[in-house]
Amino acid sequence: MTIPIATVDRDTARNLFDHYRRQRDGIRNRPEMASICLICGSIHIIPKDGDAHKLVCRSCGFAFQRYTCDSCGKTVDSRDPKNHACRVCGLRVCSCGACGCATGSCE
Ligand SMILES: [Zn+2]
Ligand SMILES: [Zn+2]
Ligand SMILES: [Zn+2]
Repeated sequence: MTIPIATVDRDTARNLFDHYRRQRDGIRNRPEMASICLICGSIHIIPKDGDAHKLVCRSCGFAFQRYTCDSCGKTVDSRDPKNHACRVCGLRVCSCGACGCATGSCE
């Protein structure tokens, strides 16, 4: 399954925005968060040109990484504290431990 950019109504977006502004853990597990900017609350999120791993907010220009892990298929989101950045490949480390590096080559 590819990452769908779900349509979110304004009330849902507002609730999720308020929730995840305070508590970022779990963003990766909410499909709706692919469509909500955590900076300005906009729901106008589009794929970033030329970067399959990134989405960008059309309202404020904030870009973030959100994509599916190649190893386990879970969603990885750069705004989620559980998906810290890999210093080697620049992608995020999935909760399964995989990132953009060859399997097992970085911690
Ligand atoms: Zn924004
Ligand atoms: Zn994974
Ligand atoms: Zn890596």
